[in-house]
Amino acid sequence: MSIIPPLQAADTRPVLFDSHCHLDLPELLPELELHLANAKAAGVEGFLVPAVQSSAWLPLLELKQRYGFYIALGVHPWWASQAQFETLVGLEGLAALPEVNAIGEIGLDFALDEQSFALQRQCFEFQLQLAAKLKKPVILHHRKSQNELLQVIKQQQFSQGGILHAFSGSFQQGMAFIDMGFKLGIGGTITYERAEKTRKAVKQFPLTALVLETDSPSMPLNGFQGQINTPAQLPLVLKVLAELRGESTQDIASQLWLNTCQILKKN
Ligand SMILES: [Zn+2]
Repeated sequence: MSIIPPLQAADTRPVLFDSHCHLDLPELLPELELHLANAKAAGVEGFLVPAVQSSAWLPLLELKQRYGFYIALGVHPWWASQAQFETLVGLEGLAALPEVNAIGEIGLDFALDEQSFALQRQCFEFQLQLAAKLKKPVILHHRKSQNELLQVIKQQQFSQGGILHAFSGSFQQGMAFIDMGFKLGIGGTITYERAEKTRKAVKQFPLTALVLETDSPSMPLNGFQGQINTPAQLPLVLKVLAELRGESTQDIASQLWLNTCQILKKN
């Protein structure tokens, strides 16, 4: 009887980086250890957790210390109306810490009430300037706002790049961000056949411009609607991306791991 164990499939399994997961939110935090164990069993080894509001900043620094997450600090456009100027000024000291990998989640959401647009814009512009000053990349949220985001990025001549999270749109729209030094966050959207334009576009982008994400606990994959999304779902996004591009999951995974590390300036 042989005592040599068979080669485990896991030995060649791709290692994945979830570049956008809100592990600090109440939907996921209470069972964080379980979610991390499931994610690791699925080959997900890297996590970027972006803050959505100022009350998340200190807890995220603690989570980073404990679990080694990558973190982004910032104010999400959904919370921009509540953000006081003093709060944003307070971001500067914390975000300068070497533990903070990026400024985020920041951006513009034009599906919200129009009355919020002016404050959203101020909040975004301030944080983009801060990222430039600190030489850190940004994690961008967009909804009906890709053109305006690009406009501000160009106006400010922002050159640190970052990740356009939850990319959806055409090849031209994606390339406009890639040309400004951004990676595109590819997530559950591509698992829906109705997302024709985005599925077509992701076939054409240079592989060096993509990163993977789940946006947990939001954006459940096709077939999992109504369920809480978790980082353990990331291999399914990779699988669809590989099918669409006609490339191997292994090749895509190793390049996307590098892309994520490069943009987050991980050593
Ligand atoms: Zn998010």
